[in-house]
Amino acid sequence: MTEETNPFKIAQHQIDLVAKKLNLKKGIHEFLRWPQRELTVNFPVRMDNGEIKTFTGYRVQHNSSRGPCKGGIRYHPDVTLDEVRALATWMTWKCAVVNIPYGGAKGGVICNPKEMSMGELERLTRRFASEISIIIGPEKDIPAPDVYTNAQTMAWIMDTYSMNKGYSVPGVITGKPISIGGSLGRREATARGCMFTIREALKKMDYKVIAPEKWKAECSGDDGRNDCDGDEGTGYRIDNATVSIQGFGNAGSIAADLLSHKGAKIIAVSDSKGGVINKNGIDVDKLIVYKSTNGSVKGFEGANEECGTRDVLEVECDVLIPAALENQITEENVDNIKTKIVAEAANGPTTPPADKILFEKKIFMIPDVLANAGGVTVSYFEWVQGLQQFFWSERDVNVKLRDIIVKAFGDVYKMSQEHQVDMRTGAYMVAVQRVADAMMTRGIFP
Ligand code: NAD
Repeated sequence: MTEETNPFKIAQHQIDLVAKKLNLKKGIHEFLRWPQRELTVNFPVRMDNGEIKTFTGYRVQHNSSRGPCKGGIRYHPDVTLDEVRALATWMTWKCAVVNIPYGGAKGGVICNPKEMSMGELERLTRRFASEISIIIGPEKDIPAPDVYTNAQTMAWIMDTYSMNKGYSVPGVITGKPISIGGSLGRREATARGCMFTIREALKKMDYKVIAPEKWKAECSGDDGRNDCDGDEGTGYRIDNATVSIQGFGNAGSIAADLLSHKGAKIIAVSDSKGGVINKNGIDVDKLIVYKSTNGSVKGFEGANEECGTRDVLEVECDVLIPAALENQITEENVDNIKTKIVAEAANGPTTPPADKILFEKKIFMIPDVLANAGGVTVSYFEWVQGLQQFFWSERDVNVKLRDIIVKAFGDVYKMSQEHQVDMRTGAYMVAVQRVADAMMTRGIFP
């Protein structure tokens, strides 16, 4: 890993640029460059063959000025402390952009979950949860799923923490199964938040965004779809906006579903095996069924063209949603991108040089810290519901999500206009300012 590709160096460089623009005090700027607390744990796990293997894991808390720390736990062979530090830093900014009362954290264990049995994964998770339980907790630091961890992993962490306490503590973790205190609407939250940001961006671009009677009927729930987001009467449709999506997993497929039901035309989709294009619009309901039976969108008969995984990025459209991996829009393909809006459902899909070129090309960028913040926002709702032991309807969740995301979009847009910067820089400026204000208001202890 070089200085240029080390994610933590990149995260620190981003802070340096924004600190300059915000004229931050030197001491505050320096403090924000570093995580507040880092825990490294080496722990034994009994494998199925009877051997005892030592694993290394991390939990990093970047900043807790605005509230308890929040961030996922990933299981991957390539986890490094610097990667976890960077991800924790970005969580601080994401929570601050949407103004939820959290700081940022992240965790990771160096392991290859694809080569481990369920029993081994459970033992690894429970021991890791015990090791980091000295710094996590509902008032301190609340983990969530990330790469190769899921609702089951969260259930094991919740159970382990609760067993050590002697009573159930649902608020120690989010992303739990619904049966033990997960939130309705969490599964769709990232895509739904992304949809709200796209709708706001289309409005800023004077795209015809309307709220007809038809949608009000849809929101009644009569059609069996529980996707009402509380916009009845004031809502919008985005009829005929054309959309291309890279990645058809949780974020990508649900974004396709939600957007198509608001009138958008999904014209291209890809996943890790290939892509499909239909300029007249893809039937998303059919594509979801096709992918679940065939394992990929490739070969879908409702399309008239096949393409590669990255070709969808170059399709002419109104909205491009990278919803797969990092570093997909690069200096190599940025000149071929023919969209009006990029909505980064994925984390880090655009490299910094390509980002600069998109700005020069006047393509409207909705950066990841805003476009995919719906996920952490509904995680926050899950935590609140768990603390109160009072659970909300899906409609309540969606309405509150909409209000938070629309407000955040407005804050970032205003900052970017006032300082004549791109939306990403605007988002970082909003976030860093909020964290710095919290620090200065609290004062420096002692
Ligand atoms: P997922 O595993 O459910 O789906 C990923 C999709 O990307 C799959 O369809 C996969 O086939 C596809 N893919 C993989 N490699 C590809 C390639 N080279 N070209 C095209 N498609 C490819 O993951 P997800 O939860 O949807 O996450 C996707 C992105 O969104 C990640 O960057 C993640 O960090 C980000 N994100 C997700 C959430 C969430 O709540 N799920 C929240 C915030 C950010």
